[in-house]
Amino acid sequence: MKIKRLTVWRLDLPLAKVYDFSGGTQHVERLDSTVLRIETDDGLEGWGETCPWGPGYLPSQHGPGVRAALETLAPAILGRDPRAPEAVGRAMALAAPGHQGARSAVDIACWDILGKATGQPLWRLLGAEAPAPVALNSSIPTADAEAMRATFAAHAAAGYRTHSAKIGGGDPDADVARIEAVLAALPEGHAVTFDVNCAWTPGVAVEVLNRAPARGWVEQPCPTLDQCAHVAARVPQPIMLDECLLTFDDHLAAWRRGACEGVKVKPARLGGLTAARAARDLGVALGWRMHVEDTGGSAIADTAAFHLAASTPDANRLASWLGRAHLADDPMAGLGALNDGGVVRLGDVSGLGFAPDPATFGAPCAVYEG
Ligand code: MG
Repeated sequence: MKIKRLTVWRLDLPLAKVYDFSGGTQHVERLDSTVLRIETDDGLEGWGETCPWGPGYLPSQHGPGVRAALETLAPAILGRDPRAPEAVGRAMALAAPGHQGARSAVDIACWDILGKATGQPLWRLLGAEAPAPVALNSSIPTADAEAMRATFAAHAAAGYRTHSAKIGGGDPDADVARIEAVLAALPEGHAVTFDVNCAWTPGVAVEVLNRAPARGWVEQPCPTLDQCAHVAARVPQPIMLDECLLTFDDHLAAWRRGACEGVKVKPARLGGLTAARAARDLGVALGWRMHVEDTGGSAIADTAAFHLAASTPDANRLASWLGRAHLADDPMAGLGALNDGGVVRLGDVSGLGFAPDPATFGAPCAVYEG
């Protein structure tokens, strides 16, 4: 089986609400998603998607860059067997190292084809006997303490039981107030992570986290792994890492330095399901707790990540966010991973479990054949 054609679409995805994070330095109103279809010489097709959460979230990941990287990667992909995502991934890494977002879309499409070719859903190929129901995480953008408390209460009333509250900035008093406001409104049995998105210096992190109540996780307090390890040794809260983990080696370094008790596992940040599975399996071996989800996007990126989440052991799996829940208009409404009373339940259909209708995407922006 060989890859004979790669078709690429750009999807402009306005958010239902403006999203501020990282101490207000990041402001996202719409997402630039890249969807691709791989077609094989024997008639199978697979779908992939990658969608940065705005161009400022991760290094070298923005929509036009993803599509430029795909143009460079296409000759290394065409003619290869998509049932071997690892081999396709090594070819992409040789052709253009980095570009994890672009590689993720290709890798997900290869896994979709592997699933269809073998008649297996991805959760089974990724290691599960049965797909775990995956709890959904609400996401609360940064704002003043009272506005965050109100958003938090609305999410709790909507059925979410785990929450990610965005905090961070240069004013320790404001962040202590945000943490106190959210914790005061936290219902019995709910859990919260305070996601700083790199917005603190180590000094502010140590001050805030030693003044605030020590409840819940704190995610990516500072930009670098060394800074986060410094903070982790001086605060009572468990630390979750996200943006500073771009490679498998970063995960090993995080473990060696004792920098965290858990990680976010995101295919688009790491280079696809293949790389995310390796990070997930390391986390299982180490005893980390993990949120498995993608950086953003619609049904394809979400569903791929939920297959990995649904195949992650209960002891290691924390809730996942559904990126599509933030979109003003869902371009694949009703397809793939959906909110079913606060959880996602995947079925037994092979591959990703669904295929979108490309007629709804408009004209492709590129077609590569070989
Ligand atoms: Mg995060």
